[in-house]
Amino acid sequence: MNLSFPSRRGLLLSAAAGALSACSPGPSGSSRPVRSPGTGSPSASGPPRPRETQRSPFPISAVGLTWTGPGEGLQIRFLGTSVPPTPWMRVKPGCPCGRDERRPVRRRAVSRALVRAPGAEAYQLAYPESIDLLSGVIVDTVHGSTPTPGASPTPTASPTPLPSTPEKVPDLADLPVVRRSQWGAVPSLTTASRAFAPVQAVTVHHTVTADDDPDPAGTVRAIFQLHAVHNGWGDIGYHFLVDAAGRVYEGRDSGDPGTIAHNASGDCVTAFHTADFNTGNIGIALLGDMTVREPTAAARRSVTTLVASLSRMHGLDPRAPLSYRNPLTGRTLRLGSPVNAHGAWTPTECPGTLTPVEDVRAAAAKALRA
Ligand SMILES: [Zn+2]
Repeated sequence: MNLSFPSRRGLLLSAAAGALSACSPGPSGSSRPVRSPGTGSPSASGPPRPRETQRSPFPISAVGLTWTGPGEGLQIRFLGTSVPPTPWMRVKPGCPCGRDERRPVRRRAVSRALVRAPGAEAYQLAYPESIDLLSGVIVDTVHGSTPTPGASPTPTASPTPLPSTPEKVPDLADLPVVRRSQWGAVPSLTTASRAFAPVQAVTVHHTVTADDDPDPAGTVRAIFQLHAVHNGWGDIGYHFLVDAAGRVYEGRDSGDPGTIAHNASGDCVTAFHTADFNTGNIGIALLGDMTVREPTAAARRSVTTLVASLSRMHGLDPRAPLSYRNPLTGRTLRLGSPVNAHGAWTPTECPGTLTPVEDVRAAAAKALRA
């Protein structure tokens, strides 16, 4: 379930109309967030002064934030009825994923972030005047899209039990894959139409979510809800996600339960991870913040195996140059390899300074030669 609030400008318009509306399709009958604007910008010294307070009728699993202006400067803390407020935390912009547009569009320079908050009943934001907060979405990954309207908050469920025997996928070198039904993708929220294209490239991302994540499947659900519902994409933006234990999560739905990310012809389903360069481009996202910590050895092994398997499957040579052409938009780009960081396609630090994409590329090339 998602609750969201409009931008400051939107709030004024909504207030004038006598309504404070949720802008994402949360369930009808659910309580709306209570917004209590603060009285000013963060204080120059001492703790920040909150400018927004959002309360939730259910325990908050995560908060998705979208803003314009400086990427840095937004702070968040969580509050509960039985626990003291958390410390203020700096919010870091996440991977700027997006979809392909048939015609050139002028994109707004927006920042997005996902912050996990198991069990809190409210959150507060502090930020300078230079930041324009566009939306905040409260995500409930425990009750999904069908919570009981008006229900009192209940304790957050324990971390999602993952299957003890994830499905081994022969095409992916027997990598253990947590299928969508196992991590809890909501079929009714999977509304995206599907397009397929031959694979030209593989792109590595990071999610800029918490390291040492106690519930990676819950984080995958939160990303799914933000992408599918709040962003209006109808599904999650990545083809694969990899947690610190090396588990691989099936991302974007191919519509064919017999394959992952592909159709029976071997083309990949187009996702929304690298705006304007998605078609024929497979997106793999490392769960965590790879500007703080490098990927675990298990995660690196899984990403390398994925890249090698996909390269073998599609005849890609990680050491050969790439002349990419988007068959949907006609956009072209020349790169040194078909295996790249998100930042090779568009200006972003994704997948983080500590993700060794060159090492992954070299290891995948070596695995292909073996
Ligand atoms: Zn990215």
